[in-house]
Amino acid sequence: MSEREYRICTRCIMDTSDSEIEFDQQGHCNHCNFYFAHTVKELPEPEVGAEQLERIVAQIKAEGEGKPYDCVIGLSGGVDSSFVALRVAELGLRPVAVHLDNSWDAEVAVRNIERIVRSLDLDLITHVVDWQEFRDIQRAFFKASVVDIEMITDHAITALVNDVARDHGLHWVVSGTNHATESIMPVTWTHRKSDLRNLKAIHRRFGERPMKTLPTMSMLEIQYAQRVRRFRSLSILNYAPYSRQGAIDALERDLGWQNYGGKHFESLFTRFYQAHYLPEKFGIDKRRAHFSAAICSGLKDRDEAIAELDAPVYPPRDLAHDRDYLLKKLGFTPAEWEAIMAAPPESHLDYPSDEAYIGAMLKVKALGRRVRS
Ligand SMILES: [Zn+2]
Repeated sequence: MSEREYRICTRCIMDTSDSEIEFDQQGHCNHCNFYFAHTVKELPEPEVGAEQLERIVAQIKAEGEGKPYDCVIGLSGGVDSSFVALRVAELGLRPVAVHLDNSWDAEVAVRNIERIVRSLDLDLITHVVDWQEFRDIQRAFFKASVVDIEMITDHAITALVNDVARDHGLHWVVSGTNHATESIMPVTWTHRKSDLRNLKAIHRRFGERPMKTLPTMSMLEIQYAQRVRRFRSLSILNYAPYSRQGAIDALERDLGWQNYGGKHFESLFTRFYQAHYLPEKFGIDKRRAHFSAAICSGLKDRDEAIAELDAPVYPPRDLAHDRDYLLKKLGFTPAEWEAIMAAPPESHLDYPSDEAYIGAMLKVKALGRRVRS
């Protein structure tokens, strides 16, 4: 990270740990400025949101008539996806649930999934990855020293959901992505999940086995799904004010669901990745971005968020235990691990990538939206 002076936004809590952050004259950063200039417009007033949602739900039901299901939902056992399952059931939709078992599920996540499926009487399709292959891809990303190792899982989930939708002739995925906790994320802290070319290139360079079974989706397949199969996504949590704590309360009350701590800690890998690997190697604390989004949404107090960040991301005993477990499972010796932690970060864009193509497509899409509105 550059040696420039430390500075934090005066409105949210994004700071110079984002190397590309910019501040205006009031000390507000580009992230919260974008939130209030653009994101906020995508969040309807409660009554309007309820009406819009009702219309879309009616459309999903109509398009699903005569089929065994009318939509697909991904289920990780985490807060957002579990709450989506609950909301979808309340709205009378008939989802098929999909879970990617990448072998890192925390026990509590597995129990949560079982409870949800039983309580809501859902059909669940679980795809278990070929662990030797998946491990080889994760090892390759560590060796490449790139930031977004979760891209592997995130890409595979999207591809899997698309496969299930295609196989059942469904047009809709109902997703838990939401502005309340996810609208702020520096571009340098992740990589575009759809960039299959990048995923394959990194694996080709550092992997030792062929990639044969991971669910994937090329740019062409994405275009085909969206344009020809009219596959669409409903971010259901954006239609009413969404609070993570409110969701946890409802899940515990209605489904006997169990909380597991930090955002995305339903996966043992993600817990270690977000709470140790990213902060130690890249100086990135993703809580900063999640909390900033919650502050902008009016769901979190800025001072409380700062105080919360001061608490260690990881209790030391858990960290030692998780590190031993992770190293053994991934097949790294302590010396290899030290070398990985010490290696300078590399950019995903140092490898072949579809970034330019994806960026251009998104610009065309945005232009189309502006022309229509
Ligand atoms: Zn800010």
